[in-house]
Amino acid sequence: MSDFYKKIIEGNKKWVETKINQDPQYFEKLSHGQSPPLLWIGCSDSRVPANEVIGAQPGEVFVHRNIANMVVHSDMNMLSVLDYAVNVLKVQHVIVCGHYGCGGVKAAMGNDSIGLIDNWIRHIKDGYRHHKTYLDSIIDEKERFDAFVELNVKEQVLDLAKTSIVQGAWRSGQDLNLHGWVYGLNSGIVKDLQVNLSSNKDLDTVYQLQF
Ligand SMILES: [Zn+2]
Repeated sequence: MSDFYKKIIEGNKKWVETKINQDPQYFEKLSHGQSPPLLWIGCSDSRVPANEVIGAQPGEVFVHRNIANMVVHSDMNMLSVLDYAVNVLKVQHVIVCGHYGCGGVKAAMGNDSIGLIDNWIRHIKDGYRHHKTYLDSIIDEKERFDAFVELNVKEQVLDLAKTSIVQGAWRSGQDLNLHGWVYGLNSGIVKDLQVNLSSNKDLDTVYQLQF
């Protein structure tokens, strides 16, 4: 067994001991059920752990992560998580959290083929094409990269709002707020992009569903 593997088994034991020392009923209470107020859709990047960066405890955040925090409307995994979070858990907030320096977004700006993942990255490229005039006008590559990370998050928030799941919840009067954040790997600070959607009136009319 590798040292790392042993370390994580030990890490789990220590974590359980710490929690039980603080509250002997800790796991017993958690086992009764969950009602997290938040769904987090983030990047798979190991440096952006959902609970940890917002100081949240187990039971407080329902999480979906994939490369570049994408909301792809044909992705059954994302749709199932979203449906369960909105319609069963009744979360009040959904945060799409991207991060500066995202490898997926960087790959989407380039032309190198990196294998099967090209097909996932293509969804990010669609966002670039949508904002090509603006993004191409940014001369500095780092600034353009940062701007694209932010725009990608905004697009995913809009893509959430376009789903029948979110619009159905709004239609039935559910309190459901969508937000877009970007996390700074070198600061730990999140930036709220102020794309706060809570009604389908914020969408282009072509996406507004009638129920
Ligand atoms: Zn990333």
